[in-house]
Amino acid sequence: MIRHTYLSLAGNMIIHLKESINQKTAEEMAVKTDSICLKKGSKFVLINSNKIKAIESEFESAVEESFNFESDTQLASRLYHSNTIQMEVAEKTIGGISQNTMVITGPCSVESRKQIESCADFVSGIGISVLRAGCFKPRTSPYTFQGMGLEGLKLLSEVREKYGLKIISEARDASHIDKVIEHVDIVQVGAKAMYDQGVLRKCGKAEKPILLKRSFGASLQEFIQAAEFILCGGNENVILCERGIRTFETKTRFTLDLCGVAYLKEHVNLPVFLDPSHAMGYAYGVADLTRACVAMGVDGLLIESHPYPKTALSDASQQLNFKEFKTLYDSIGAIATAVGRNIV
Ligand code: PEP
Ligand code: MN
Repeated sequence: MIRHTYLSLAGNMIIHLKESINQKTAEEMAVKTDSICLKKGSKFVLINSNKIKAIESEFESAVEESFNFESDTQLASRLYHSNTIQMEVAEKTIGGISQNTMVITGPCSVESRKQIESCADFVSGIGISVLRAGCFKPRTSPYTFQGMGLEGLKLLSEVREKYGLKIISEARDASHIDKVIEHVDIVQVGAKAMYDQGVLRKCGKAEKPILLKRSFGASLQEFIQAAEFILCGGNENVILCERGIRTFETKTRFTLDLCGVAYLKEHVNLPVFLDPSHAMGYAYGVADLTRACVAMGVDGLLIESHPYPKTALSDASQQLNFKEFKTLYDSIGAIATAVGRNIV
């Protein structure tokens, strides 16, 4: 990265304008330089790709600082912000210097009031503060359970109040993203929605943290670019979630890309969560994988659990029953401590 106080080089850039620059001038500069104009705190920031060759000298005095990048990992790059971005998620701190690893669990789907109450009771009872459950399920077949939709979101809101929990639930597409944003504490963008720009752009305007899952067919670069769509919309609270990619292997559902996680930790300034449940696809492997994930020092985990996994309406084979989850949960504290992290 080349960091300089005036602009003359070509490349992907982030340009911080001086505090004295008003919106009109910032927007004019954005048009002339083919940039996205973003307000960060009290200043305007321009972000652009390598089309620009130089900033006209008339603008040079408006620039406080600028950053050049070799790829379009920009707002998410550690070259721009060297520490992991700190964020408040469900009243807990992740990223920054917190060293917290947040554990989130719950069923794949909300299936009924009785089922989600039972999950909420279990989750709150063991001291976990965030319950996961999908209502708009991006199923591979149109003939299987598609989720309870808005009714499911309402049930989640009810159990949030009753059990003092926070809620994460996913959006399948842009048709219901507003409803999801309205009801949840953390918005999950599912692997299949990672490329949905309607969803990404709405998430960029949301004032809630977004957990963005990596599509099983996305390269790391594409994954980061999807996050950039949200970041450049103005939402700084983006969490990346690795949940397995498709490889030639068919014995497990997907392949958990821990090398990719190491890459993200090195180069990207966003917190990283891991979802061993969807990667493995079978409950028998989830506990060992979870422990490996904790040992990697990640910022969080998303693990599926269900009162009676065999009867689950989606992802039955991979969900842990409550006893299995509790045994696993009790085993990870020591691993976290060993790598200098705290389970929250
Ligand atoms: C889920 O979390 O239940 C889910 C559908 O995950 P993914 O988007 O990773 O397939
Ligand atoms: Mn699932």
